[in-house]
Amino acid sequence: MKPELSVVIPVYNEEAGLSKLFARLYPALDKLGIRYEVVFVNDGSRDASAAILSDQFRLRPDVTRVVLFNGNYGQHMAILAGFQATRGDIVVTLDADLQNPPEEIGKLVDKMREGYDYVGSIRRDRQDSMWRTQASRAMNQLREKITHIKMTDQGNMLRAYGREVINLINQCSEVNTFVPALAYTFARKPTEIIVEHEERAAGISKYSLYSLIRLNFDLVTGFSIAPLQFFSMLGIALSIASAALFVLLVVRRFIVGAEVEGVFTLFAITFFMLGVVLFGIGLLGEYIGRIYQQVRGRPRYVVQAILEEKAETEKSAAKLVAARD
Ligand code: UDP
Ligand code: MG
Repeated sequence: MKPELSVVIPVYNEEAGLSKLFARLYPALDKLGIRYEVVFVNDGSRDASAAILSDQFRLRPDVTRVVLFNGNYGQHMAILAGFQATRGDIVVTLDADLQNPPEEIGKLVDKMREGYDYVGSIRRDRQDSMWRTQASRAMNQLREKITHIKMTDQGNMLRAYGREVINLINQCSEVNTFVPALAYTFARKPTEIIVEHEERAAGISKYSLYSLIRLNFDLVTGFSIAPLQFFSMLGIALSIASAALFVLLVVRRFIVGAEVEGVFTLFAITFFMLGVVLFGIGLLGEYIGRIYQQVRGRPRYVVQAILEEKAETEKSAAKLVAARD
């Protein structure tokens, strides 16, 4: 008996808000009147989240499954592991902190039923700090230019994916990825809707400025090599400019003779160039580091245990075996 809807929720140190999440998520899903399952992925939380999730599994084993990681592998790895465990035709991802209201899942499902295989969402009134919202908006525009992936609100995880898109994602073995972008590259008929957004119910954001920068590099380098190509173009332009400067200086040497004026200007130009070169090397490093991680081919995450109800057929098979013995 396959569920129609699977909801995937990554959980990392969310003990403070999980009970509030359960109290709103399950009623909202029950109200939809369809067969559903909720797949929680505990991303190596160091608080009581894993225990709280196991308790919830015992309360609603018919519709709950819990994947337990043995360490912290990041939100996107957690979502990918959740995808592996899903069986529904429609898969919805959601944050555990109630910033995405569970009551909005119904809207995504309705849209999917209109024949779309990817429904993104745009937060109507984003409840995050000012700088966070502004920085996201700027990064969003830059990223769209570089990767040609259309996501109005890339940081928003409340999204629905069709079974075929999920199956394709399950075949990928990317180490550093960004799930909504990966899904977008496989979608045949994507669309977006507007959803509500709330403040974090409890706990704090799990993303520091540093991890946000890392994530944005994943998003750009994982889906485009345009930054590298831009750099070779910039290299050509700068080489031409410095060749011209060289010619100019040589000509001056013969007309005016030896001179040292303007030497600081030359320093300034040199330092600027050094900065550009360093950035270029760093950018190369971003790609090479990812190639390195990819070729090592280590497991992307390690699942310690999966809490799920044995399928009926397996159960009766077990009963048969027990009876025979
Ligand atoms: N998360 C995770 N692993 C991590 C970081 C975050 O599974 O290493 C989960 C977290 O529990 C939450 C979701 O990813 O359900 C989004 O995280 P958060 O709300 O902290 O991000 P923000 O809303 O600040 O972007
Ligand atoms: Mg959040």
